[in-house]
Amino acid sequence: MQRHTALMPSRSQFPVVPDFCGPFESGIYLASHPCRLRARNRPFESFGPEPQPCIISMMALLAYAPRPDFGVIFDGDDTLWSTEQLYDDARERARKIVAECGMDAARWEECERRLDVQNVEKLGYSVDRFPTSCVQAYEQICESTGCAMDANTADRVRRAAQSAFDRDPPLVPGVRETLMSLRQRGARLALLTKGDRELQSRKIQSSGLADLFDIIQIVPEKSPEIIRHVVEALGVDVTSAWMVGNSIRSDVRPAIEAGLRAVWINAHVWEYERDYECAAIDRMIAASELSDITALIEV
Ligand SMILES: [Mg+2]
Repeated sequence: MQRHTALMPSRSQFPVVPDFCGPFESGIYLASHPCRLRARNRPFESFGPEPQPCIISMMALLAYAPRPDFGVIFDGDDTLWSTEQLYDDARERARKIVAECGMDAARWEECERRLDVQNVEKLGYSVDRFPTSCVQAYEQICESTGCAMDANTADRVRRAAQSAFDRDPPLVPGVRETLMSLRQRGARLALLTKGDRELQSRKIQSSGLADLFDIIQIVPEKSPEIIRHVVEALGVDVTSAWMVGNSIRSDVRPAIEAGLRAVWINAHVWEYERDYECAAIDRMIAASELSDITALIEV
């Protein structure tokens, strides 16, 4: 397939405009790279603020925006950066507090993990869900064992759980090199992440990866319809689009349903996202690490 990358001017030739007019919200944000302008030609009311100062100059550069060879949509948590370890560390702190009270910590953890999955229906992916689940597990263990619930202990458990949000998650190895490699091959890239808008926005900014994406979108949930919208906004055919993520449930299945191909990164996931009945999924490739995808993604 013909590559168009060589026809593009180098990025240093482009007008200097801010890549994103944050803060990131649930709308689609288009970055300023001229090859990203194709999607602006269509009305799409959820597009974010435009980088106004250079619109005319950038329109003149539309001639340099050939249809890209392919597009790749990335999940964020535990695909580009490692979030789950932060939850594990916070859970361990809460578990120690429970154990110090003479309670069965293993039983508490089992209860907490079960409640946390159940609470998705009620609390979604808000930052309140995990701490709430930790405290509720403490309350349930107290009730079932006849122990008096201590408000101070419950508060300590909650604060220990909230420590999951104190640190920014570390990037997975080779993430920037992987994204740059795909861009150099002519790909347009999108980041599609679900969760608390403020928290996800903070992770995106701290990652330092925003400049590598043509589109960034934070959503409450990923659906085939949303994924199709992102593909359309990238300006690629759905048959030339890939989804990369660590969750069969939230990344692979909706992408396959939308008509994309998918790479499943076999990384750490929490109970809610665990769904390993993937052997029969057509158009899906499994990878051990993110850096493997450059060899796996074909156009
Ligand atoms: Mg994920």
